[in-house]
Amino acid sequence: MREENCIFCKIAAGEIPSKTIYEDEQFRVILDISPAVRGHALIIPKEHYADIYSLPEELAARAIVLAKKLAVHMTEMLKCDGFNIVQNNGEAAGQTVFHFHMHLIPRYQEDGNQDKLCWNHLELSQEELEEICQKLRQ
Ligand code: AMP
Ligand code: ZN
Repeated sequence: MREENCIFCKIAAGEIPSKTIYEDEQFRVILDISPAVRGHALIIPKEHYADIYSLPEELAARAIVLAKKLAVHMTEMLKCDGFNIVQNNGEAAGQTVFHFHMHLIPRYQEDGNQDKLCWNHLELSQEELEEICQKLRQ
């Protein structure tokens, strides 16, 4: 299953060259062309799913297991101090390539990206938290 004109379908199929650090039947893992940090990589399923909503659960499970293995491997090889695993869904969340992918981002104490994954914190009352909690428990 692939989509015409999807750059990650083409990269995953090897039709567009990429810096591939890992490949198996279901995934290709490449270096991000515009990395946040040296070693920033992307886990790309070979089948086209736009986002987490359409991704089959079995593939999601395999993706997170692969992310765990690569986090361990990359941390060992790159000697980084920490690691972000990021996955964006929808324009509002910052997704720019609409083929599901997971970002593997090695982090260093002083890598100059300290503000990258920050957000403004809301101050919510106990009542507001309770209302959201009730809604999400349905
Ligand atoms: P997102 O914003 O989560 O959709 O992330 C898309 C990521 O894909 C960005 O970090 C881009 O730098 C990266 N990207 C886009 N085109 C390519 C490409 N041809 N090769 C490698 N990475 C790419
Ligand atoms: Zn695709």
